[in-house]
Amino acid sequence: MSKPQASIDPSIVPSREACAALDAADPLASVREAFALPPGLIYLDGNSLGAMPAATPARLQQALQDGWGRQLVGAWNGAGWIGLAPRVAAAIAGLIGAQPDEVAVADSTSVNLFKLLAIALRLRPQRRSIVTESGNFPTDLYVAQNLTGWTGTHRLRTVERAQLVEDPASVLDDDTAVLTLSHVDYRSGAMHDMARITAAAHARGALVVWDLAHSTGAVPVDLAAANADFAVGCGYKYLNGGPGAPAYAYMARRWHAEARSPLAGWFGHHEPFAFRPDYTPAAGATQLQCGTPPILSLVALAAGVDLMAGLDAAALRRKSLALTDLFIARCQPWLAEHGFELLTPLAHEQRGSQVSLRHARAWPICQALIELGVIGDFRAPDILRLGFAPAYLRHVDAWDAAERLHQIMRDGFWQDARFETRRQVT
Ligand SMILES: *Cc1c(COP(=O)(O)O)cnc(C)c1O
Repeated sequence: MSKPQASIDPSIVPSREACAALDAADPLASVREAFALPPGLIYLDGNSLGAMPAATPARLQQALQDGWGRQLVGAWNGAGWIGLAPRVAAAIAGLIGAQPDEVAVADSTSVNLFKLLAIALRLRPQRRSIVTESGNFPTDLYVAQNLTGWTGTHRLRTVERAQLVEDPASVLDDDTAVLTLSHVDYRSGAMHDMARITAAAHARGALVVWDLAHSTGAVPVDLAAANADFAVGCGYKYLNGGPGAPAYAYMARRWHAEARSPLAGWFGHHEPFAFRPDYTPAAGATQLQCGTPPILSLVALAAGVDLMAGLDAAALRRKSLALTDLFIARCQPWLAEHGFELLTPLAHEQRGSQVSLRHARAWPICQALIELGVIGDFRAPDILRLGFAPAYLRHVDAWDAAERLHQIMRDGFWQDARFETRRQVT
């Protein structure tokens, strides 16, 4: 593994005019127009709630007025609602290096993680532990904790990231049934080497469930190339599917015959409309569907996924790295002086699509930045998190965001008492 650089060469920092020129030459520049972004706003929170595609309201209107309002129940056939979840699943499959029958769109990331961890435990009946990283996203920890408590015979073991990155095989043993990890860390934006860790787990006889919440739509994901077993991911972050959008679940073909979801419902049945009293799972990942899909949410998700599916993944990655490099390089000269610590790795192969800065006063700083039109978020206890969605952000946005952050630190703007008020959602 390459050693992280100590810093980014400040001489690569372009002027604002040069950033505008980079935007003019950007092959993804026109994609921004496909989003309904409020003018003047610099939106660096697409890793919490992705921006709204401009096409979404009309597609929802159509589903409401023509579908629900006019066709009523006939819209399941007439408007294609019955085929919508598989269609969106196939489009997501194309974004993550999967086959259409390996992906289901359903429920939330949390619920899908529960299903896949339970499946994985059953596939390794002689082994008793789930292993994860101590800093994994809380819902992932809660789901794994609760599942092991629920079976009563399994346990959750958490390991430190440094050891995992250093030598993944060393954190696993003959009792490890499944390793579950976020591909990109929600706090720091650090990215795991999916293929390397998956191979190490397989060598130990363990399965892996990857959480792609901060990956899909922002960094290249190739589950087939990584030989992944299972994965879950989120519809409302870089896929721009809308608040609370349905999530997705991936199950590699080699597990289709053996896997059995712990949540059997009629939409995961082989023939839901045969209304048989006994459950026969549908083929492939479809058995991961459980109940009736939320059509209005799926219509919005489809608009986001259709937009992202049309974009060149390599171009997105290049732009994401260019934006985060630019932001980091502009901030680096004064970060330490103003009490910040950069948490995001400088090495490209270890970086997702965000920049995270640790600061003892991250909350009021984040609020002050929001008041100046730069929307980032705060992750307790002390992280200012700035997501760079490459589909709709420009180089000038990264340049201006760094400038405004420097400005509020220089003049102490963030110290105003009004920025101390805590809100429910951070
Ligand atoms: C956002 C996120 C989730 C979200 O889970 P939901 O069930 O959709 O609320 C899960 N895992 C990770 C790593 C996330 O970043």
